[in-house]
Amino acid sequence: MNQDILMLDGIVKRFGRLVALDHLDFSVRAGEILGIAGPNGAGKSTALAVCTGQLPPNEGRIRFEGQVLNGRPPHEFCHAGIARTFQIPQVFSSMTVRENVEVGRDFGAPSGRRASSGNLEEVLALTGLQDSGGQGAASVDLITRKRIMLAAALATEPKILFMDEPLAGLNEAEIKAFADLIARVNAERDIAIVLVEHKVRTLARLSSRILILNFGQAVRLDVPEVIMSDPEIIELYLGKSHAA
Ligand code: ADP
Ligand code: MG
Repeated sequence: MNQDILMLDGIVKRFGRLVALDHLDFSVRAGEILGIAGPNGAGKSTALAVCTGQLPPNEGRIRFEGQVLNGRPPHEFCHAGIARTFQIPQVFSSMTVRENVEVGRDFGAPSGRRASSGNLEEVLALTGLQDSGGQGAASVDLITRKRIMLAAALATEPKILFMDEPLAGLNEAEIKAFADLIARVNAERDIAIVLVEHKVRTLARLSSRILILNFGQAVRLDVPEVIMSDPEIIELYLGKSHAA
């Protein structure tokens, strides 16, 4: 499955005089896990925000399944089948776990692709929340908040899911559990995943290809075996984050 579903073409994003994305080009293939790594400030989170419609680019084009999405509001990106999770998980603390996931479903699915309640049960089971649906979301721990945010994103029935540092703040056992969950989501629901992650060994284990960003540009794109065995890449772009 080498078909490109999302294509970024010459994306420039400026914050005042700072050029956060500098003519960035890359594509995401249907069903793959594309890893994105690179130093702090390289533009990884900005790239995700542009791909998911939160930040409009100053230049360039975003095409998803043949439609040009630039200039559309975020909910239209979502309705087209693009979802995301954030580095710091946000949940509605006055709601139950299940209600949080329902918000994702109701926000995300346009009438034509409205998710069924069967899908909600499937999503809760897949993310390991089947027994905590009735629990208040205020009191749950970090990994459960991450599960809820992932479940809410999946309830929108995305074709492509962007995740910004999903493993941040987790301990070793939780990293393993959440990385396995990401792999399962990709395999079982056939969703392409774009994964920004500092834990590069885990990133290499999960990804079919890894894109290295530096100063807002794509400097390397290759399979993990090549990226991880290149001393220059490790030294220049992955540095001390070369752990876990
Ligand atoms: P990364 O996620 O790779 O660490 P970011 O995409 O967050 O990098 O940031 C890229 C660059 O853009 C950094 O220099 C950062 O300081 C700057 N930047 C990001 N968001 C904003 C913003 N909202 N306003 C101004 N500068 C920003
Ligand atoms: Mg970031």
